Amino acid sequence: MPKYLVEAVHEPDPASCLRLLDAVLMQGAHYLTHTDWGCMVGDHRAWMLLDAEDDAAVKHVILPAFRDKARIAKLNTFTPEQIRAMHTQAH
Ligand SMILES: [Zn+2]
Repeated sequence: MPKYLVEAVHEPDPASCLRLLDAVLMQGAHYLTHTDWGCMVGDHRAWMLLDAEDDAAVKHVILPAFRDKARIAKLNTFTPEQIRAMHTQAH
């Protein structure tokens, strides 16, 4: 299943952080352990790695508190063969 990175920025004030943290906490332990935060170092973004069928499925599982500010990136890994093939195509 494709892997997605969801990044959501929020306002740099403690009330905004807490509003989102409460939303994640209320959603359940799974969401809390699968969300990483930059707040403690002054980078007010949250990141979630998800496995999902497609973009629509990702949007469905993003909490409403994040949905309007979320950036969704579909990720992949590369094999050595793919990298070699890309070099060939570039010439
Ligand atoms: Zn924050």
